[in-house]
Formats: sequence, structure tokens, C-alpha cells
Amino acid sequence: MDISNNLNIVDKRISDALKAAKREKDDITLVGVTKNVEIPIIRDAIKEGLVHIGENRAQEFVDKYDKIDSAKWHFIGSLQRNKVKYIIDKVFMIHSLDRLSLAKEINKQALKVDRIMHVLVQINIADENTKYGLPYEEAIPFIETLFNLKNIKVKGLMAMAPLVDNPEKVRPYFRLMKRLFDELKTINYPHIDMQYLSMGMTNDFEVAISEGSNLVRIGRAIFK
Ligand SMILES: *Cc1c(COP(=O)(O)O)cnc(C)c1O
Repeated sequence: MDISNNLNIVDKRISDALKAAKREKDDITLVGVTKNVEIPIIRDAIKEGLVHIGENRAQEFVDKYDKIDSAKWHFIGSLQRNKVKYIIDKVFMIHSLDRLSLAKEINKQALKVDRIMHVLVQINIADENTKYGLPYEEAIPFIETLFNLKNIKVKGLMAMAPLVDNPEKVRPYFRLMKRLFDELKTINYPHIDMQYLSMGMTNDFEVAISEGSNLVRIGRAIFK
């Protein structure tokens, strides 16, 4: 595994996709997804300039957290309420808020450690049984109900597209997500600050970028 080379290739593909979409080169955050990746390899990637790291399981994240210096950790997997307390003081952003009971727990734990937790609301964009996330139509009403949770700030949206052979097939889903993101930007609430549209993985990140993603979560293309 040549992390340096893999990162260079991913960087180049991201900047080509941005250029093709006539977007600025720095209009994106790369999150390297390190699930099942060992500590020395994660350290290598950070040495090569990777700043943002994504984990999808609370236990694995907490185990790794103390062994890695100076990374910004993203929690990207489905989150059980009883795990929130273990990650709340460690994580830079939670991408997987999809229900009110979880929002209340995040708010409660964030209050305890005196921080405003940045969260993304996860949308089940293709209505798949196998995926977490809110139905598309419920996103806006759900986000509006969070206004009294003072220790949560909604920073954007996250979605995972279905896994298909040809990523062009999932373009319509990414387009819908961008539309919802833009609509939420026009809603003026203090607890909403639409900054991140988290979509695009190894299989489909170029299509996601061309549809307006500004945060990609990439695992295999970096850590293969
Ligand atoms: C594993 C994972 C990724 C990265 O997937 P790759 O196909 O390895 O790029 C992104 N997002 C989530 C939520 C994941 O669980």
C-alpha cells in the first residue's frame, strides 16, 4: 500500500472534478475513511497531509483516538444513543443524525462537556431498507424541530448513494441532495448553518462533486 501515491491520485481526481465543474480548488473537504485501517497506516496518511479522518463505529473510533495526534475526527456511521457520551468530546462532526431521540442525546451530552456539537443530517436518499437516514421529505420538518436544542448546530447534510456499477446512475440522487441543501440555506434559523454537503465515496465521488458535494468520504481509494 503506497499511501502517498494513493493520496496524490485522489487529490488529482478531486481537483479535476472541481475544475470540470468550474469550482474553486479548495471548495472541498476530503475525509479519509479509516475503518479497519491500522494505526501506523493512519499515521502515514496524516504525515502525508490528510487532516480529516472518518470512522463509522464508536468502539473502533475511541480505541484509535488516543493513538493518533492532530486529526479532525468525523463520525460517519450509524450511532446508538448510548455511545454518544464516549465520542462527544472527541469528534469534530457527526454525519449521521437521523432521529430526534439521538438529537436529544447529542444535545444533552454536548451540554455536559460545554460544546456546540456540529452535526449533519443523514438522508436516505434512495429509500433503501439497508441504509440509515431520514426520508428526503422529512428532512426540513425534522431540522426545524431541533431549534430548541441549544448545543447542536446543523452544519449540513449527508447521504450515501446506492452502490452501482456505473456511478452515473446515482447522479439524480446527488442532484436532489443539492437541491435540499440549497433550500435549507434559505431557512433562517440560528441553529442551522448549511456549510457541508457530505456525499461521494470511492465509487462515485467525481459524480458527487460535479453535483455540488463539498465533502467527500473516501476509504478504499486511499487505503487499498
Ligand atoms: C466506508 C464508508 C465510506 C467510504 O467508502 P469507500 O467506498 O471505502 O470510499 C464513506 N462513508 C461511509 C458512511 C462509510 O461507512
